[in-house]
Amino acid sequence: MEYLPIFYKLDSRRVLLVGGGKIALRKARFMLRAGARLRVVGTEVSAQMKKLLAHAEHEIYERPYREEDLQDVAIVVAATDDAELNKQVSTAAKQRNLPVNVVDQPELCNFIFPSIVDRSPLLVAVSSSGKSPVLARLLRARLETFIPSAYGTLTEFLGAFRQQVKTGISSFTQRMRFWEEVVNGPIAELVLSGKGEQAKSLLEDKLKNHNQNPSVSGEVYLVGAGPGDPDLLTFRALRLMQQADVVLYDRLVSEQILNMTRQDAEKIHVGKQRQLHTMPQQDISALLVRLAQEGKRVLRLKGGDPFIFGRGGEEIEMLAEARIPFQVVPGITAASGCSCYAGIPLTHRDYAQSVVFVTGHMKNDKCDLDWEHLVQENQTLVVYMGLIGLPLLCNELIQHGRDKNTPVALIQQGTTPEQKVLTGTLESLPGIVEAADVKAPTLIIVGDVVSLHNKLAWREAKTV
Ligand code: SAH
Repeated sequence: MEYLPIFYKLDSRRVLLVGGGKIALRKARFMLRAGARLRVVGTEVSAQMKKLLAHAEHEIYERPYREEDLQDVAIVVAATDDAELNKQVSTAAKQRNLPVNVVDQPELCNFIFPSIVDRSPLLVAVSSSGKSPVLARLLRARLETFIPSAYGTLTEFLGAFRQQVKTGISSFTQRMRFWEEVVNGPIAELVLSGKGEQAKSLLEDKLKNHNQNPSVSGEVYLVGAGPGDPDLLTFRALRLMQQADVVLYDRLVSEQILNMTRQDAEKIHVGKQRQLHTMPQQDISALLVRLAQEGKRVLRLKGGDPFIFGRGGEEIEMLAEARIPFQVVPGITAASGCSCYAGIPLTHRDYAQSVVFVTGHMKNDKCDLDWEHLVQENQTLVVYMGLIGLPLLCNELIQHGRDKNTPVALIQQGTTPEQKVLTGTLESLPGIVEAADVKAPTLIIVGDVVSLHNKLAWREAKTV
């Protein structure tokens, strides 16, 4: 992030606004909404500005800007059409460590104004970090349409009970659950439809009931996060990601996806990297059980699909035994993601009528696979975790009768902006891969369908 998004309480503090024209007027109106006491300085101050700031708490100086104008102000805004003057104001403000904004000159600013959706006290701010105010405004306009105007009233209503609920429910998790039920249920609906009194008594009843029967039960969501591109998450995955209290994730889950979980959720990295299992499988399962028993909603976020080479089954076995409620959300597995993004259909009427997924993970330099079955013609073979064993894999397939000229692709970091596709044959690919600087994760696709890659690759990929 280039900017720290914060909401600043002006508390009637003084704001220096340099400029008295139209743009300055717009800024003045905006800042007045947040309770600013303005000091406007400009060689020409418009009549509208004078009218707007007619109250004694504001100051207007119709003269050139002087450095003393910066005295005792909390923030500075320059809105003149004199680039030299804007620069001078910006430099002087920065020297005094004051936040300064120069309209339309991001390079002179150390803070910028976002576009906002105002449902005061609820505020939604959108910023493009000064790159495209038009895009930010467009997005803001979209947000306007789906945030009901009564959300302001709802926020006030909830705020009025905050302390009472805090005193009444001491556990943070339980309190959060309480508020979520309020926001998602009939109480919020009553407020939104203007029945504040009814909502108030319902909320008080709910609080009383909660205190008489305070138990909350935890649950676990085993969720597939897909192969990397966040756009490939399912709607359900996203919903559960945003409500979980704790997140257990492994290496394959990208930071971008992790950032889409609830901001205040506890995040625990539990592995797994080849040769470097951060946490043994048993411990992960036990941790899931313990957290859920504490009443937490636990998200177990896994790359791809949790039931394809993901040990998802093992992880939830223990949950089932402990009678902890859980749900499993499928994700797009690496085979689907990589094949689509590389333009290699896994089946095709002319080339392959079946597809087999195997793991190429080696134990003691061996790969125990049913080779006879894997060398069938007209079948696509997809190998997960096969990078280390690639030479062995290709060799075994040739030894067991698959043509050495069968096309093979290795897809690195499929579906991400770093996606790279290397192609060759069973005979040539190991050498090609060795010569390239390949980064995990990688997926291998063996079969005649790979020959379609050149024609069907639709994504601007780094094809080698
Ligand atoms: N459950 C996951 C697979 C976990 S096993 C799924 O359904 O996709 C881990 C292996 O998946 C990696 O070694 C690699 O072979 C493959 N993989 C996962 N994401 C990948 C990606 N973005 N690109 C290439 N291969 C990937």
